[in-house]
Amino acid sequence: MLKTIYPAARHETAFSLTVALANTTYDSEVRTALARAFRRATPLLHTAACRLERFCEMTSYAYGNPHDVLMEQTLYPLYLSCLSSAMGKQLELQVCFSTQHRLCCPGLPLPTQGANRYGLQCEECSCVSLRDTGRRCSLTFHCIPLLTRCPIHGCLFNLVDECSSHEISMRASYSPARRRNSHRLGEILLDFSQCTCSEAAVDRTRTLMREHGYLPEYGRLRNDEFTRDFLHALSKGFEDERLNIWIKSAGMLPQALRSLRRPERPAHPVAIALLLLALDVVEYSPPISAHLEADLPTRTDTMRSREDLRRKKRREWMQHIASHKDCTRSQARLLSPALWSWLYKRDSAWLEAHQTPPRPRTDRRPRAHDLQSIRTRVIEALRSSNDIKLRTRPKWRYRARINCGLPQRAFDRLITDRP
Ligand SMILES: [Zn+2]
Repeated sequence: MLKTIYPAARHETAFSLTVALANTTYDSEVRTALARAFRRATPLLHTAACRLERFCEMTSYAYGNPHDVLMEQTLYPLYLSCLSSAMGKQLELQVCFSTQHRLCCPGLPLPTQGANRYGLQCEECSCVSLRDTGRRCSLTFHCIPLLTRCPIHGCLFNLVDECSSHEISMRASYSPARRRNSHRLGEILLDFSQCTCSEAAVDRTRTLMREHGYLPEYGRLRNDEFTRDFLHALSKGFEDERLNIWIKSAGMLPQALRSLRRPERPAHPVAIALLLLALDVVEYSPPISAHLEADLPTRTDTMRSREDLRRKKRREWMQHIASHKDCTRSQARLLSPALWSWLYKRDSAWLEAHQTPPRPRTDRRPRAHDLQSIRTRVIEALRSSNDIKLRTRPKWRYRARINCGLPQRAFDRLITDRP
């Protein structure tokens, strides 16, 4: 069978090379493998349409052996930077040779899972690939989950293939802070994706945690302090709504911190990159002991009476509550633990009367609530992007899923009725 093997652009994905191959051949094996990958909407490591051994056979080993393709044309290095060497080896075998459906690499929780990212393009990168290869190429670092911008040029991704429409519909409203956070996150993840050592990103995070005072040389990680500073540092959010939901209520942080202690339970690279992003700006500062301040004869005591101190603390608490209106009671406490603790011990009746008002019952179940916000976005995207006949056509569920580009499990969980 006649096949045209194109030279690969730098960082081009194996998926993109399979599309180029399928467009120039009638070989049913190639076309079937690609059609199946589009249908499932979950390429291997977001970058390969099939096992790499099969890819190498289809391309007559023009891009090297499976290991070469794994390192150059997939996002394997990104995952390797967060995996132990044994898990890295196991993942390599699974992606290259095994027929096992599940891979041993960390995934995202279901509501935040993404679609195939082959259809996203950065204008600048696209010009470069057109000049070099004459084709539009999908690049590995554009396929990193939850990114909205090219890490190199900072351009927002455009949609050039419907298979990625879910990725576009998940964008949150624009703000300069969100743009900055998203771009910086992309730069950190680009760094990970060029790494060739196992656990390099996790080691770097541990070192920075130690340097910034959150991980004492002897002792446990200062979990509460880091959580407070992390949430404060990233409180402006990101351009992808799923990322905001993951941080806020889908357990991203506890899992990422646990993975620093337990290499056998690795965290997703995006979670580790979020830790590093926060460590760019946060530093542990030991709290001033409330006990000392209140009870020992300090200069403060000589200058102002106990009643003055109480008034000052109450004023600080009211300012704190006013500047964090969206926080729950627990979040408000975690963001200012020393102040909360002082008031709780010495002025608890007043503190109880001046807490953040409790939220309605539905808001106490953030997972269900946030799933609803993603569901609403998907339904809106389906309504606006599809013709009205979709609702009356047979097999509407299959067509709607393909149109928004979601994998089957995620679609079933999000959409239960006709849009
Ligand atoms: Zn670019």
